[in-house]
Amino acid sequence: MRLQPALFATRSTLVAIPLLAWTIACGPVSTLPTGVVQPAVVAQMESLVHLQKGELPILISAPHGGRKDIPGSRHRTGQGMATGGAGFSTAWDAGTEELALELAAEVLRLTGKKPYLVVGSFKRNFLDCNRPPAIAYSDPAARAVYEVYHGALREDCKEIVTRFGSGLVVDLHRQGTSANTVYRGTKNGKSVTAMRAKFGDGIHEGPDSVFGRLKAQGWNVHPDPGGTEQSGFSGGFITQTYGSERSPTDAIQFEFGADYCKSAEQRKGTVKALALVLVELAKGYHL
Ligand SMILES: [Zn+2]
Repeated sequence: MRLQPALFATRSTLVAIPLLAWTIACGPVSTLPTGVVQPAVVAQMESLVHLQKGELPILISAPHGGRKDIPGSRHRTGQGMATGGAGFSTAWDAGTEELALELAAEVLRLTGKKPYLVVGSFKRNFLDCNRPPAIAYSDPAARAVYEVYHGALREDCKEIVTRFGSGLVVDLHRQGTSANTVYRGTKNGKSVTAMRAKFGDGIHEGPDSVFGRLKAQGWNVHPDPGGTEQSGFSGGFITQTYGSERSPTDAIQFEFGADYCKSAEQRKGTVKALALVLVELAKGYHL
């Protein structure tokens, strides 16, 4: 992860409060002036999230693909919590961290411009950024990384709206239900309310929608692109929080089958098609 000096200052401010709380909980803090966090601690927590400021109204998120431990954190047990759908899970979305970074690189190659990036490198055993705080973490160290992730999403979405008027959050995941299918999650259109109000429902479920265009490139998509979304894949906490039911930005969750993200070769085809569609969308509907 690269951080420009100005950005580093912003991000440091962003994580000051949770990191201070973590330091209070985990060790001596009395020597630290209020609100100041040791740069080494900030850098350590930020190294667990790929952060990139963008030049396009596209933000790529992937919270479940990382394999790194969170120092000072312990595995979540989920004791007493509901599982499944919106509940507790530690399932690893293998290949999605790579997919997100490769997608960003392909968007840059096509346009000469970077998309925004917020991508986790941490194991889901420690932290689940696609859940509300009560389910997401069980200790202050993981909470600090959660605040880095969601602080960046909040800040970037605000910036996208200020700079471009509107924009799209794409939240990348992997599912084990159908290897050759990519499921769309928008809470059946709710997280793309702004886009639909501006351009009509065709932008959501017509041939020119994101999934309509992907289908035209040979993807097996569900819905196809009209119809009801698959229960369990219809949009999680990130899509609901940063989509236009609650935020000015739109959001779409992608649940990839293994055929789209398992190998480097499969990911190459996936990012080529998806980057093209996202860039077309940004050109046609946002820029
Ligand atoms: Zn996931």
